[in-house]
Amino acid sequence: MSDWTMVTLQLRGKVRRLMQTTVMHQDTDALLARRRGDCNRCGACCKILFRCPFLGTDAEGQYTCRIYAMRFSQCRLFPLHAADLRELEEECSYTFEAESLHPAPGTAPEPALE
Ligand code: SF4
Repeated sequence: MSDWTMVTLQLRGKVRRLMQTTVMHQDTDALLARRRGDCNRCGACCKILFRCPFLGTDAEGQYTCRIYAMRFSQCRLFPLHAADLRELEEECSYTFEAESLHPAPGTAPEPALE
């Protein structure tokens, strides 16, 4: 994937997540019900497009959010869709059930696995 393609993908994803979580007030519980796993604190989602100024590290050198208790809803709910994972430079520890029936808005359905 070219740098420009990745930047475009990340920009669209950021805008979509912002709209989904703050404007459209989607039923995020239903979306998150398809998400599996736990956050491994890799910090990759905090570096989409730019490094978040609130991203810090703790005493063990693990990434931490300096405004965790007040973090933005699009951060708290990341990833909402499997499509969100394509924007990351590192591998997120979350996975998703197939979303072919419910793809992220503005994204093409994922091809069926053979
Ligand atoms: S990319 Fe995934 S595993 Fe890494 S910090 Fe974000 S939510 Fe957690």
